[in-house]
Formats: sequence, C-alpha cells, structure tokens
Amino acid sequence: MGSSALLTGLIAGLFLWISVAHADTTDDGALLCTCINDKGTCKNGTCRGDYCFYTLVNDLEERGCFTNNHREQCYTSFKGFFVQCCKEEKCNTFITPPSVITGTPTTTSPEAHRPELWITVSLLFLFVTTCACGLMLLLRFRRTACRQRDPESHDVKILKVPSGDDPTYGNIYDEFCTSGSGTGLPYLVQRTMARQISLVECVGKGRYGEVWRGTWMGESVAVKIFSSRDEHSWFRETEIYNTVQLRHDNILGFIASDMTSKNSSTQLWLVTHYHELGSLYDFLQYSSLDPESCLRMCLSVACGLVHLHTEIVSSQEKPAIAHRDLKSRNILVKRNGQCCIADLGLAVIHSQSHDYLDVGNNPRVGTKRYMAPEVLDETIRVDVFESYKQTDIWALGLVFWEITRRTAVNGIVEDYRPPFFDLVPSDPSFEEMKKVVCVDQQRPSLHNRLHSHPILSAIVKIMKECWYQNPTARLTALRIRKTLSKLDHDSDFSIEKLKRDV
Ligand code: ADP
Ligand code: MG
Repeated sequence: MGSSALLTGLIAGLFLWISVAHADTTDDGALLCTCINDKGTCKNGTCRGDYCFYTLVNDLEERGCFTNNHREQCYTSFKGFFVQCCKEEKCNTFITPPSVITGTPTTTSPEAHRPELWITVSLLFLFVTTCACGLMLLLRFRRTACRQRDPESHDVKILKVPSGDDPTYGNIYDEFCTSGSGTGLPYLVQRTMARQISLVECVGKGRYGEVWRGTWMGESVAVKIFSSRDEHSWFRETEIYNTVQLRHDNILGFIASDMTSKNSSTQLWLVTHYHELGSLYDFLQYSSLDPESCLRMCLSVACGLVHLHTEIVSSQEKPAIAHRDLKSRNILVKRNGQCCIADLGLAVIHSQSHDYLDVGNNPRVGTKRYMAPEVLDETIRVDVFESYKQTDIWALGLVFWEITRRTAVNGIVEDYRPPFFDLVPSDPSFEEMKKVVCVDQQRPSLHNRLHSHPILSAIVKIMKECWYQNPTARLTALRIRKTLSKLDHDSDFSIEKLKRDV
C-alpha cells in the first residue's frame, strides 16, 4: 500500500515535472495539425498536439499530432518507415516521403539547437531509469514475501487443482498506469525496460520469429522477436496493446514494445509476461486433465475471448476486437491452470460508438487448420465485424476439442492431436482444408467417454454449436462463457454437497 502510494507520488511528480519543464515551449496540445488516418484523435481532419507528424509505414500514410510524451518517435526511423515531425500550424499537410526510404533518421529533434531542452531530456531519462530501479527494488522486496508464502514449484502430471501465483510484474503496469488512457506504459519507460532485458534462452520458434525467456531485474519476461517478414504483426500488436485497455487475467499481459535499428537491420521486440508452462499446445502434449480442470481451462479461454470481443463504452472504453488466429499455440497456460490469449498481430478492431472497423493491413492470414468454412470458401463478409467474431468461435470450438481429448474420464484419455489430424496432412494446404471443412463438411470426431460425463457432454454440445456451417448460427463468446460459468458453479455446488453428505 505504502509502496504504491510512494510510486504514484513519484509518477505524478514525474509527469508534473515534464509538463513544467516544457511549459516554455508549448501550451499543451495547442498546435493545430492536419489529421489523416490517425484514429481516435482526428476531428474534422485536424487535431491538436505538441508536434505535427507525418508517417509512412508500409504504404500506409498517417498525418496527425504527437504529444510531448511521444516526442522521441519524431526522430526514430528505420527501413520501410518514414517519419517526419514539425512544429508549426498544419505544417504536416504537404510533407511527402523520399522515393527511397533508407532507414537513416529523417528528422532531427525540433529542439536540437536548444541545449537546455537536451539537458531536460537527459534528466528525464535519468529520472525514469531511477524510478524504474526504485520500483524494481520495491517489487523484489514484495516478491520475496510472496515466495515464502508459496514455495510450490511446477510439476504437472494429471492436473487436478492447479495452483501457483503468477509473476508479480503485472503490478509494475498497474502501479505506473495511474491515470490517462489506462493503456500501455509510457513510451520512454517501455523503451528503457526493453533495453535492460538480458535474453536467457530461446523457448519457442513460431512461423515468423522466436520467443525468448529473458530477465528484467531478476524477473522472467517473454521476449518475442519478430522476423522482418512479420513486421506488420509487431506494428499491429504494439498498436493494440498501446491504445486499447486490455488488462485481463485471460489476455497475455503486455510489458513493452521496442524497435531498434542495428547496422541497418531492424529488431522488433514485444515483451510480455512469461508463462513457464508454455502454450496450451505445448502443455497438452505432456499433461492430461480431469473434467473440472478442463472446464476451468475452457472457461478461462472463453472469458479472455469475451473480453476481446466486447466493446466497452465508459470512461475505461475499449473497442471490440476479433483475434483471427485463435489456436492452442496462441494460448498460454498459467500456473493457476487458467489460460491467457496471446498474439494479436492479426486482430481486427471495431467500435460501434465511434463507427469504425479497422482490419489493419497485415498480409498474414490465419492458420489454415483453424480456418472457418466461410474463410476457406471465401464467402466471409469482410466488411462486417461480426463475421470475424464468428470465425473466432469456430476456432474456439477446435481449441475446446483439443483440451477435451486430453481429459480423462474413468482412466480413459486420448493422445494429443491437432484438429483434423485424421483428415489432412501435417501442413495442410488451403485446398485440402477447404475439401474437408466446406465440401465434405467434416467435423472433429468425439470420443464416446465424453458423452458419459455431465461436464464434458455439456462442453461437447458447445463445441458442436461452434461448428455450424452457417456462421450466424454459432454461439457467441458471451453465451459460451455463461454456460461454462454455470457448469462451473454447479460442479462446485455438487462437490460441496458431496462433502456435506459424506
Ligand atoms: P506460434 O504462435 O506460431 O507458435 P509464437 O512465436 O507466438 O509462435 O510462439 C512460439 C512459442 O513460444 C509458443 O508456442 C510457446 O511455446 C512459446 N511462447 C510464446 N509466448 C510465450 C510466453 N509469453 N511465455 C512462455 N512461452 C511463450
Ligand atoms: Mg503465436
């Protein structure tokens, strides 16, 4: 309590100091700029900020405003990304990119000729770093106490009632984000943190990059290093985590995003919470579950998906998000037996209240094995947000199927297999998937034991309702979460009753 009050004071002081330090250069947000494609801030084609900017990122142009907090980005530049800032009324209206974007910085800081501001910036760096170190010391102190309370280490065979605390670095975020948009950590802090990480071991290779376990101030973090082929996913994920309020137990916790340019190559990092049990796909290879643990796992994924899919219209507003690449490899398992959803690189954002649908510009497509029939036969209505949610539900049914295969009933359990393992080869083509899912309308087979258990038969019913050919007939994430919560509640109740009867 004391530490968070102290920290809140420090942060508030920091921001007060920043605003005072810059009071002589700008009236906050006073400069009128041309605004194009900069969602959320544009009003009638203009916005107000401390700097006007122009960016070109993979052929997508933006014109808009920066605040003092993001001034750093004015002179960040790398291959394929052109940025220029200026500091006069609507000065970004006619900026155009050079014909070749080399990756050398395109703009010097507008204050480069003013040494007092450089001193201010350096002091700011020093201050942020000192705050981060102080914070770490405090957190280390608290963590030691937590460890003493929970000395259990992970050992998973048949997971009955999973237990264990998650890492505490979630608190860093909560304590820093005292006000404002309530989204990502301040940009400078993200950058500073990312550069203090030491990479320890590679824990996974995906289609487009590697995931490393790193340490930051003695705490494990996951560092996803995107290959340059997948820079769109990094941009998208960074954008979403920094603009949308996504803190949720069942969404992978974001820490920082960083881009560095070394010898003309760009390194793109996404730093998140580290989950030692790995992805759900990894976990199911070596673990089996009992029906109650299966239910809680399914419920946790459904809770994460409801949070993504739901638009929140309040002070903590959040647009609706559809994932578009839901699969067991993109879900991580936490020590408490719940899951969290990861990898938002393909996500689609929708706000009914602000009337926009943002499908991004990522050329990557979802994983073929998990594609819904309307994606495979290309009848999906790409301009309707609901369509994307419906494809997530299809994939959710497949994830439930993978979990239930590894759930034991009367000692019977199946080996891990990916969906449609018996119908398509290991790296199925679009056409092979289309034949199975659309032409033959096949669905994953369900073992008899699942029908004999009340919890599992209810989950089977949900799966079948996720797999309707007609996307509009499928259940919603909210309906699924409600049904599973009720089952969970009822099963707790019957266990209690059993205990009472004994
Ligand atoms: P893909 O989703 O294509 O498998 P990713 O690059 O997203 O590729 O992840 C690769 C692997 O790295 C995952 O399957 C998982 O085993 C591991 N991994 C990813 N994120 C984390 C994390 N936050 N904590 C621990 N392990 C992770
Ligand atoms: Mg992934």
